[in-house]
Amino acid sequence: MARIISLLNCKCPKCEKGKVFSSKGFVLLGRMPIMNENCPSCQHKFEMETGFFFGAMFVSYAMAVAEAIVVFLIAFNFVKSSILLVLIVAMVILLMGFVNLRYSRMIWMYLFTKKSR
Ligand SMILES: [Zn+2]
Repeated sequence: MARIISLLNCKCPKCEKGKVFSSKGFVLLGRMPIMNENCPSCQHKFEMETGFFFGAMFVSYAMAVAEAIVVFLIAFNFVKSSILLVLIVAMVILLMGFVNLRYSRMIWMYLFTKKSR
């Protein structure tokens, strides 16, 4: 449970103390999240090998599909126009992209990194 809280707080998967992202980014200003190369606390290298975060793309895709389904099911009750429905789902996916980017990388790192004791 503590590990899930560390994941949600974007803490290092190794020591659970250092921050993974130096900037969370801001979707409305188009600022991307900035990731630290190493943990500021234990110096664990987050990108363990070249292309390590390629797999996080699939996690991000799954998150986007899940969000789209939830938004569609909610909006379907209120919106009768199918074009508006598609636009609402597309907007939510775009806005959630920044959150998905951070958490897909966090989930991917937590899957493949054991906590140090
Ligand atoms: Zn660390």
